[in-house]
Amino acid sequence: MPGPSIPPAAGGRRAEIAVRLAAVRDRIAAACAAAVRDPGDVTLIGITKTFPASDVRLLYDLGVTDVGENRDQEAAPKAAQCADLAPGLTWHFVGQLQTNKSASVASYAGVVHSVDRVRLVRALGRDARRAGRVITCLVQASLDGDPARGGALAADVPVIARALAAEEGLVLGGVMAMAPLGAAPAAAFAPLPGIAAVVREIRPEARIVSAGMSGDLEDAIAAGATHVRVGTALLGGRPPVR
Ligand SMILES: *Cc1c(COP(=O)(O)O)cnc(C)c1O
Repeated sequence: MPGPSIPPAAGGRRAEIAVRLAAVRDRIAAACAAAVRDPGDVTLIGITKTFPASDVRLLYDLGVTDVGENRDQEAAPKAAQCADLAPGLTWHFVGQLQTNKSASVASYAGVVHSVDRVRLVRALGRDARRAGRVITCLVQASLDGDPARGGALAADVPVIARALAAEEGLVLGGVMAMAPLGAAPAAAFAPLPGIAAVVREIRPEARIVSAGMSGDLEDAIAAGATHVRVGTALLGGRPPVR
């Protein structure tokens, strides 16, 4: 049942999201079956950017306990509006992160997926300690060597991973990657298992592999993704980003 904070008019939206969620769960289950993997090993992160806090509540109500955002300006107020759902709800920060936003992100994010430079490790560590929080961090790896969309070059991944492992207040959780625009996802994700293995050599418990979105989650699961970040397929189309 929806909580008291969800107005009855949200019933249509709840039903729509429920149908979309079931379809996404089916896709994850089918991809896991094809890869001979346990669906319980794949966590669905609902990417709620451009959608209101009421959608976060509906997702949570439907059993999605992990949500993600890519811009602090949008995520911070949304997380505040959902503060009553903590600690059952984990916020994932998945977008490119400037160090001047690190303190804000450190105040609500349980997991930061987009750590792609040592300077950001230092800033997040300082801000996590100041906030008295421990934040799981993933090293974002560039799969095509083009840093335009964020992500560290393969050669820098172990350097950043070691810095994370040594930083008090942060936990090295694993790796994150996005398929390069225009690439065939199956081929694009091919380097991912090797990159994830390099990070596990630094910390064996760092088993998170965050990869896969609405259009390519099957390929990501085939390549070992443990966390898929799904927006459009769960919540519908977004206006184009400007
Ligand atoms: C928006 C976004 C997603 C979700 O993309 P969809 O195609 O809507 O599923 C996943 N990861 C990141 C980093 C994003 O910014």
